[in-house]
Amino acid sequence: MFFLLLLLITFSQLSANPQKNYQSFNDGQSFIKNQIQKKINKNKAKNVIVIVGDGYGITTNYINRLNQGQINGGLGDEFVLPHEKLDHLALIKTYTTNGQTPDSAGTSTAIHSGIKTKSGIIGLTDSSIRGDCMSKRTEVESISDIFKKLDKSVGVVTNTRITHATPAALYAHSFDRNWEDDSKVPKDCSQDDIALQLINSDIDLALGGGKRHFLPLEIVSQKGKRTDSRNLIEEFKNSGGIYLNNENDFQNYKIDTKKRLIGLFADSHFPYLAKEENKPSLLDLSNLAIEYLNKNKNGYYLLIEAGRIDHGHHAGKLNYVLRQTQQFNKLIQNIIQKVNLQETLLIVTADHAHSLGVNGYCGRGSKVNGICYRINPKESKHQSKPNLGLDGKPFSVVNYLNGPGSVFEKKYFLQYAFRKRLSDFDYDDIEFDHEALIPLFKESHSGLDVVAYASGPFSFLLNGTIEQNFLFHIINYAIKNSNIN
Ligand SMILES: [Zn+2]
Repeated sequence: MFFLLLLLITFSQLSANPQKNYQSFNDGQSFIKNQIQKKINKNKAKNVIVIVGDGYGITTNYINRLNQGQINGGLGDEFVLPHEKLDHLALIKTYTTNGQTPDSAGTSTAIHSGIKTKSGIIGLTDSSIRGDCMSKRTEVESISDIFKKLDKSVGVVTNTRITHATPAALYAHSFDRNWEDDSKVPKDCSQDDIALQLINSDIDLALGGGKRHFLPLEIVSQKGKRTDSRNLIEEFKNSGGIYLNNENDFQNYKIDTKKRLIGLFADSHFPYLAKEENKPSLLDLSNLAIEYLNKNKNGYYLLIEAGRIDHGHHAGKLNYVLRQTQQFNKLIQNIIQKVNLQETLLIVTADHAHSLGVNGYCGRGSKVNGICYRINPKESKHQSKPNLGLDGKPFSVVNYLNGPGSVFEKKYFLQYAFRKRLSDFDYDDIEFDHEALIPLFKESHSGLDVVAYASGPFSFLLNGTIEQNFLFHIINYAIKNSNIN
């Protein structure tokens, strides 16, 4: 009798499902309900938008999520970023044909041409050698060419120089990513520089920075770099294009899709948001791009690069990165609201990752740019005591594996010893060189996978762990509903 009673009590406890009163359990139930109701979208894609967070790897996504979640008043982890709400995702292998650790030239060429190539090369096959004008030159057919053949429009928007590697792979072919103007191209090389290739391309719209590569040395005020005395901006205007030089031009511009549009709003890259607001902002430029491109009834391709995330990492300044990623979130949210995902394939991805790693064991709510505090056994929020290393010193929630903020104290030139005292650190200082291990002048990329998130036509093809160049093939398939090139 006793055993029967015990059995009954045990059974009733099981069937009562005590965890169902918990939010996290119900969230899981809702997730299943939503997933099974999802319809696969096999519409032919009219438009494709690719948003590239340059250097926006998985760990950068992690710090962005925690930071944005904490800004919004939570502990951080529970927060869902705009792109994390998209329907599908794949892990992307980013290596180039010669780089376990890739760069933006090789990776953007992969996304835009469907093949992997060497690091440092723009829009050429792997037969070329970086910087060697005498090596074999086979220009790839890019996504831009394919969209143009279908009478679709093509645009590119970035907060870096428009001639920088990620945007350049859409419209240019170069033995070297650094040949942004003629001054860097070897004198005996017949290849046009990247700025000239943009002017001569059929890209409908290009908005970003980098006017110095279009202007001759003689224009000192805008840091002109060209040694051939050509003013490509004037040449572009004389050929019938519309050029926007500043915020005022941007505000006064009236869309005329019969005329190509180029806007260059900074001599080089846009300033870091930690230093000044960008006017116009990447979001403003993206809105204009969509409005312009949308006027083509056949559709469009738009590449949007949030490129300063990468540069913030290279500088080892995590606080710069966090400012840039906040803008990145707003940008993505805005695009999701603006476009019709029944006819637009939207992909949010990164070209490559960075050397940022994540420590443990941190209690919840530890600030992502600060110290890793101990887990609190009694409540969600962390204890006030930090975790300590065996040297008795606290450590950061995230560390760079290399960079200017090395924990080794500089003794004299290129000689390092001892770990810095943590009291030396001011994590909230916007200029703070975030903790790193190996001392380097510039923090590096890493070979870690990135994620591609997607919604819209054929976004379900983003599935599994795939090569970066497969993104091209997914886009190509989505706009044609066939695999024929
Ligand atoms: Zn980089």
